[in-house]
Amino acid sequence: MILAREAIELLGQMARILWFEGTKHGLRDREWMALRFLSRANRFSRTPSALASYVGTTRGTASFIIGELERLGYLERQRSATDKRSVTLSVTQQGKKFLVRDPISVLLEPIAVLDDEAKIRFRDTLRHVLDQADAAEQRHHTDVCKRCIFLREDRTATDGKPGAAEFSCRLFRAPIAEAEIDLLCTSFEHHRQ
Ligand code: SF4
Repeated sequence: MILAREAIELLGQMARILWFEGTKHGLRDREWMALRFLSRANRFSRTPSALASYVGTTRGTASFIIGELERLGYLERQRSATDKRSVTLSVTQQGKKFLVRDPISVLLEPIAVLDDEAKIRFRDTLRHVLDQADAAEQRHHTDVCKRCIFLREDRTATDGKPGAAEFSCRLFRAPIAEAEIDLLCTSFEHHRQ
């Protein structure tokens, strides 16, 4: 148990790099979190309500964060052609360039130099901990589409050979492009044993 406690203490200290007082490069910690998330989120999660759920805040606070990021030119919103009340948020080119200054780089760089096996083990350990915590607290965390219980993969055989994979989401009843399966989704649910 002592090793587990040590690991959690270290995680807590890492969290201080993510959550800080004041601003870094002009953004507060929640604004950084929002910009980082929106640069990695799929189209279903690039909405004000999904952002509020990810950041763990109210819709009002999420609107304020969106407004700030828009004012700085890092974010833009598009209204849906079919439903004018529905809005999709996108990180602008300027926002993508600004992300190189993300304060989490000090955590990313030491992880990036590990060999692939160590990186995969590190990532999978964190996932395992989150999955178990979700099960204990009956909640779910945001994760990549390719691990989601709702993702369906079809391969249509042609001439007896398996065809290219086609993906769809059973929750949103919509096709998913292959490039989207590595993106984050706040409606993600993992397979429970
Ligand atoms: S399959 Fe899951 S993660 Fe992917 S879009 Fe649907 S709900 Fe989101």
